[in-house]
Amino acid sequence: MTTPRDQRPQSGPYSGLTLNSAKRFLAQQFRAAGLDTPDLDARLLVMAACGLSHADLIAQGTEFITPPKFEALSGFAQRRLDGEPIDYILGYRDFYGRRFQITKDVLSPRPETEGLIDLALELYPADAPINILDLGTGSGAIILTLLAERALWRGVGSDISPAALEVAAQNADILEVAGRAAFAHGSWFEPVKGRYDMIMSNPPYIDSAHMAVLPREVAGFDPELALFGGEDGLSAYRMIAAQAQDHLKPKGWLLLEIGYDQKSAVLNLLKAEGFTGITCAKDLSGHDRVIRAQSPAM
Ligand code: GLN
Repeated sequence: MTTPRDQRPQSGPYSGLTLNSAKRFLAQQFRAAGLDTPDLDARLLVMAACGLSHADLIAQGTEFITPPKFEALSGFAQRRLDGEPIDYILGYRDFYGRRFQITKDVLSPRPETEGLIDLALELYPADAPINILDLGTGSGAIILTLLAERALWRGVGSDISPAALEVAAQNADILEVAGRAAFAHGSWFEPVKGRYDMIMSNPPYIDSAHMAVLPREVAGFDPELALFGGEDGLSAYRMIAAQAQDHLKPKGWLLLEIGYDQKSAVLNLLKAEGFTGITCAKDLSGHDRVIRAQSPAM
């Protein structure tokens, strides 16, 4: 590609690429490497490296990419080609229509978890001023989404990882719900005081056998702490089932995300603890995904 001399930047090494051609070039590389969404990934990385919105990119696509931006883009592209998921490179993931900042210290929120949000919103009228608890809050995706959806709800997110709680607190600020969100550092219920109307968790639930065959995009980047649920994948559910009633109000709801093959095991744990009204909802792919159960009336 030749470029008229008077359009070239005055200083520094010259990439010779317009934004559009950089995007096309990257998409070709991604396609050749077998990535699932080469065009989308290329566009998002050009936007991120150049600090442009989608509309800016369309308007400015024929402008030349400056050397520092080209360098940033090359770094992003290499990370993507090395298998890093796009959301960790961008530093955010969209969940239930809102943008969550993420770092290597938190699980990148997954679309399956949006089903837990739908169920939680159905359980109480919008004008009920309830308090909720999110165990293993990570990025805060669950609790912060619920607080953003319901102006009268308040809540606590607990997590054993201080770095995760920093991410969650930052997301609370960005989503403007920090005044109704508190964060507690510790393992599961350990730092939690009081009783709640609803407790939610998307705990680590992958067992040893599945951990061994996780795709690299997951195993290499989402934190193991957020994924591994002990030898049989059920450690967190055992602990939550045993302790949840100490932290739920009478007839309070427990909502748990589960792995696709864990329905009967988790139902049995909850039944054994005396929970009632236990049901399981499927995700959009038809997999068993969210269990809800009510604590006894006292
Ligand atoms: N609660 C967070 C989420 O659902 C983190 C869950 C986890 O780390 N297992 O995205």
